[in-house]
Amino acid sequence: MLITLVNNSRFNTNAIPQQLQSNALLQFGQRQSKLDSKIAQRVSLVTPSMIRAVSRLAEKYPGTVNLGQGTPADDPPKVLIQAAKAALDNGHNQYTNVWGIPEFRQAIAKKYSPKLGFAINPEEHVTVTCGVTEAVFSALYALINKGDEVVMFEPRYDNYLPAVVWNGGKTKYVPLLPPTDKTPRWQLDAQKLEAAITPKTKVILLNSPHNPSGKVFTKQDLEQIAAVCKKHDLIAITDEVYEHLLFDHKKHISLATIPGMKERTITVSGLSKAYDATGWRVAWTVAPKVLTDAIKKTHDFITLCAPGPFQQAGIQAMAMPGSYYQAYRNKYAERRDVLKSALDKAGLKTLPIEGAYYLMADATALCKKLGLKNDIELTDFLIKKIGVAGVPGSNFMTPNPQDARIFIRFSFCKKIETLKEAGQKLLQLQKLVQQGYKATASDLKGPGILDML
Ligand code: PLP
Repeated sequence: MLITLVNNSRFNTNAIPQQLQSNALLQFGQRQSKLDSKIAQRVSLVTPSMIRAVSRLAEKYPGTVNLGQGTPADDPPKVLIQAAKAALDNGHNQYTNVWGIPEFRQAIAKKYSPKLGFAINPEEHVTVTCGVTEAVFSALYALINKGDEVVMFEPRYDNYLPAVVWNGGKTKYVPLLPPTDKTPRWQLDAQKLEAAITPKTKVILLNSPHNPSGKVFTKQDLEQIAAVCKKHDLIAITDEVYEHLLFDHKKHISLATIPGMKERTITVSGLSKAYDATGWRVAWTVAPKVLTDAIKKTHDFITLCAPGPFQQAGIQAMAMPGSYYQAYRNKYAERRDVLKSALDKAGLKTLPIEGAYYLMADATALCKKLGLKNDIELTDFLIKKIGVAGVPGSNFMTPNPQDARIFIRFSFCKKIETLKEAGQKLLQLQKLVQQGYKATASDLKGPGILDML
């Protein structure tokens, strides 16, 4: 514990006179270890996210191009920044209506009524939250009793697990089948979904477009999910934060538009991804009144309200023209192509994607050539030897004995120059493979991803 504290850059040792430092740290360390027993058991149910661990590791190896976390390099559109600045200047700096500024909820209702196919009442159906993360958490907090099961698809976005288990629920994962040469799309297996349902299942938690696979769930997929929800009287929570990020003319369909689903679906989206505004922490849920009433209550006591100035900017965001979304998609399609080509050349064989801004690469052959055992070793090798950071696929899925392929996820919400720089570094990997290089212990020396958890 003491070592951890000394190494922790957030603990500012400069503030303590030299001769007192070791004592102060020792006492702090001792107090800290006594405090361990005070921590709620639920905390240890969850290991820290590897996504953030990759970023911490990348910082230890200066010059690493970090393609781990999905943090956009671009700023939000200028009109939205101006709207946020104007809000700060014009007195929008206090708590807002806890469920969201009424004009913002009206703007959300106006945009989503045609998208979801019913007349959304801003008072009855909309709650504004602090990001999709809080929206999903508040929704689960409103629904889950001890022992209730939440079914979700794997690979999965790793923030969902704590949101389920900290609310006393249990996760059940249904694997999506990864693309093969014969079936180049991630496939939903409806039989596996049906088999995962038990009398304790209460919620299906869906994400489309999907992080990390890039799958966009088709109408047929959604109809199969809807049939299961209706048959077993389940609630659906759908995380649609990447709803505007689609490639190659793919169409996003909301689960709520499938007949019989708007009555049981909590649709979630937000500003983070569609407007490159992950730091603004604004999102929303659209759900039937009874569910919305419950979410309004949990949201109120968890966060009180979302940031006021950025909700004001959100009003403007809801009015962005179609041309904005087209340019946004084109921008990311170009970045996807740059990264895809660099990864493919280096032997990190990318899987086809349809939406969101991540590429999953099949690194099975590459690991074999380099003599690396798994995605953890490969992640360490890529950071330490090549200078490019991605996230191990095992962060997103349970090992599958029938498909032992090794995956690694790279995000391309970065500047083109950054992606090209990654491409330059990956050329080195290509060379090593061509030379028949085998990774050595010294390539993996020093702190690795597992030390960052
Ligand atoms: N949902 C998914 C699928 C994500 O990939 C992310 C972030 O990467 C989030 C939610 C986080 O959304 P927010 O920033 O609105 O909390």
